[in-house]
Amino acid sequence: MTRHVWMIILIKCVFEEFCLMNLNLTEVLLADGVVITKEVPIELDELAYGFGTFPITEKEPAKITVRKDEMNFLNIHGSAAITAAVPCDRCLEDVPVTIRLDFDERVPADGAETAGAAGADADGVFDEESAFDKEYYIQGYNLDVDKLIFGEALLNWPSQVLCKEDCRGLCPVCGQNLNHGECGCDRNLLDPRMAKVLDVFSKLKKEV
Ligand SMILES: [Zn+2]
Ligand SMILES: [Zn+2]
Repeated sequence: MTRHVWMIILIKCVFEEFCLMNLNLTEVLLADGVVITKEVPIELDELAYGFGTFPITEKEPAKITVRKDEMNFLNIHGSAAITAAVPCDRCLEDVPVTIRLDFDERVPADGAETAGAAGADADGVFDEESAFDKEYYIQGYNLDVDKLIFGEALLNWPSQVLCKEDCRGLCPVCGQNLNHGECGCDRNLLDPRMAKVLDVFSKLKKEV
């Protein structure tokens, strides 16, 4: 094999390594009826949202199928699973939370080329509930798998995270984790409904 050919192979390998988290959609976008199915590794190491940053401790590769339909929409179907360390709502200790993602998205193929660059000015085309309005995951001819997973994880975020059903939470007087033992504070003065109120507060904080 000539040096020239080796050089091309080397460049191709480096390029593919660099674009590992992207799924190339060229084939699907340019021809009707083409379906691609790929397993793509998730590169994300943490999920950083407005309500907190959560390290990803385990992840399965995303299995993604993309097809363009006769209405010129991309149908993106797939699954993935990630486990993130999320603080317990009551005692704040990290809990491994596995989020299984099964997604079925339908986005206009026409918008695919411009949506990423222009900050995704959606013109009302995209689903309002979508978490992807600002950081749209179709960039040119690529599907940014990490961005897709990031948005899907947010949509599937658990409403409550507890280390165990009967987590005793923190002492409202001294802050000790009551799962580790009693602290001896007199908590009788506190309304027993307070625990529920504290739960609501922590939930509200998440939603901000
Ligand atoms: Zn707890
Ligand atoms: Zn205490």
